This record gives sequence, structure tokens and C-alpha cells, in this order.
Amino acid sequence: MPALNSAASTPPDRPFEGGAFHPALSGGAGSGVIRLSGADVRFTSEAGEIGLPLAGLQLALGGASDRLIFLTHPSLPQTTVHTADHAILDHPVILGSAELAAQRAKIRTKQHVGSAVWFSLAGALVLAVVALVLSRAWFVKMAAAAVPVSFEISAGDKVFAQMMAGKKVVKNAGVDAQLKQITDPLLAGISDTRYPFTFHVIEDATLNAFALPGGHVVLHSGLLLAADRAEEIAGVLAHEIAHVTGRHSLRNIIGSAGLYLALSAVAGDASGLLAVLADNSAFLLDRKFTRDFEREADHVGWDYLVRAGLDPAGMVSFFERMEREEKQALEKLPLGGGVAQALQIVSTHPATRERIALLEAKLRARGSAPATGKMSLNYSAFKATVRASLHGADAPPPQP
Ligand SMILES: [Zn+2]
Repeated sequence: MPALNSAASTPPDRPFEGGAFHPALSGGAGSGVIRLSGADVRFTSEAGEIGLPLAGLQLALGGASDRLIFLTHPSLPQTTVHTADHAILDHPVILGSAELAAQRAKIRTKQHVGSAVWFSLAGALVLAVVALVLSRAWFVKMAAAAVPVSFEISAGDKVFAQMMAGKKVVKNAGVDAQLKQITDPLLAGISDTRYPFTFHVIEDATLNAFALPGGHVVLHSGLLLAADRAEEIAGVLAHEIAHVTGRHSLRNIIGSAGLYLALSAVAGDASGLLAVLADNSAFLLDRKFTRDFEREADHVGWDYLVRAGLDPAGMVSFFERMEREEKQALEKLPLGGGVAQALQIVSTHPATRERIALLEAKLRARGSAPATGKMSLNYSAFKATVRASLHGADAPPPQP
């Protein structure tokens, strides 16, 4: 927008496209070209010409959103010439007449005030929309802060005990000791020390790992056996730990408990929220997170790995491995009845490709930064120990 009273003038012979209202025009209106001279404003159309004397010419803003400039003269009340080309205000004839320049200045001021009001209204509207979108997540996070960590820990303990009742938990000192060589260096990089993390292996051939709120982390034997190196497991664990420290399960249920309870908790009364949580310990079992939480767990988990001095490439390569497995699983599904099953697989691993692409970009941005962390575990020896500890149908016969 030009500055107030800008002196840069338009060329004197420049025509301006516009229109006019006049009874002589067919239908009372027509479009044509406006030219200014020292004597008058001349509107030319196919129907003929209309002239407005310069002395006494009136300039005014009008039309929708003040888009048009109207030119009228008190001696010709039936004639109105208009243009949307505001450069007409910078014509030397307008600038050169004290009377017209004064009218032009008034119009410019009105335009500036108008746009300032419009911009502040639009700005307020944009802010309101952004606040609506963000505030829910923000209130949920603030409400979660009103829930003590001890609540998650005791609820997590309870649910973990129930969950493990039907599972084959691997109880093997060798597995535990070697797994510790992965988890100890990883935990050293986590500054959030509120949660007592414990790691468990269960006999399950599927490629999975999950964490319960409070700090129980469960690894399927299938996942340990599918990996090629300790850094891959560290990557998966870092992601799971980030779900715990980010309190994603808690934030999930607070989000669905309703904004009123969240607002009360933020305002200082968490009793309603805690009552709802106490009655809904099943929420701890719901490990389906939103894309936002998955992305957050990827980013935070990545930071945990880097802070621990571990190579985050393991995280990326394991997710790529999961993606391949997922594709194979989809291909193996029976035709027809497989659709629901296929959709379930996709929905429990949301946007895997998108997440991998983000992590690959982080890896490229990192360049060849060396991993300083010590991960001395002999991974193939660890896999042999895991394999030997299994009792299922696929397990090798016990050693004599
Ligand atoms: Zn996740």
C-alpha cells in the first residue's frame, strides 16, 4: 500500500478502465475508459462520451469493501463515473489541484483506517481459531500436570499384573543381564527421572513393544529376534519411554473425559478428573495413540538416544523393518475377509511411512555425527540367549 500522500504520480496520458452511470447509456450504465486532462474527466465508451468538469469534481470511495472510486460533479447529478483503478488518485491532475489533493488525502486516510481495522479483525479471528485448535491440547496437557505421577505408577502396576497373568513372561537371568546392557545406557540419557522404568520380555512372535503409564515396558521376543543390532532395540525403547514421559495415555483419556473436567483440573480441582481416571483403568490398555503423540514420541525418543550418545540410525532402520513386515503381513492376508484385519494393522501403526520419512530427514540433517555411547552388547549372542529361553512350539529344545 503506497504511503499517505505519496507523490509518485501516474503518467498524464494513462487511461483508467472504469464505468459510468448515465441515463444516455443503454440500461443506464456502461463500461469504458476514463482519461483526465487539465480541463475535465472524460469517460469514453462505445455509446459515446461523458465529461465532468475538473473544477468542483467530487472524489469518493464506495462499492463493496470500498473497492471503487466514484467521480461526480454537483452540476451533473445524473452522472457518476467510477473505477477500481486506484492509481487514478495519483494522476498529476489530481495531485496538482489543492482541492482534489485534499479529497485524495481523505480517501487515503479512510483506506488506511479501513485496512487497519480489517487487519486487526482478521488477526483476532485467526488467533481465535488457532486458540480453539491449540487450547484443547494445551488444556489437556495442563490438566495432566494436575494428576500426580504416583497415580500413573500405581495404576500401571495394577494393570501390568493383570495383563501378565495370561502371558508367557521370559524369566531368564541371562536375558535380563544382557537387556540391561541396552537399557542402562539409554536410561542414562533420560533427564525425566519421575518414572521407575522396568523392562520385561514376553514370549510372543509378533513384532511389538509397548509401555504402560508409570514405567513398565514390555518387549515381545519376536521383536528382539527380528532386530540386527542393539541400537535398533534402543530406538524402539526410546520411543516407548517417550510415550511414558509424555504421559500420552493419561492425556488420551483426559482428552476424552471432556473439557469440563480438564478445565476444573487446570483451575485447581482435579478431584473430578481423578475419579474418572480411577474408574477407567482400562485406558491404560489403550495403546492406540494419535499421530501427534506418535510423532512426539519419535522426536522425544530421538533426543533421548542422542543425549545418551547412542546412534539414532537404529531407530530408523527398525521402523523400516516394521514397515516391511507390515507390508508382508498385508500381502499374506486372505482375500475378502482380510480387509477388516488389514485396516486394523494400518490403524495400530498410524502413518508409518510419514514417520519414517521424518526420521530419515533427521538422520540426514545429523550427518555423520559419531555415536559416543557405549553399547558393548554382542547382539547375536543376546538373540541366542533369548531363543534358548523360549518355551513355545518354535522354541529350540532345552539344552541338556
Ligand atoms: Zn508409539
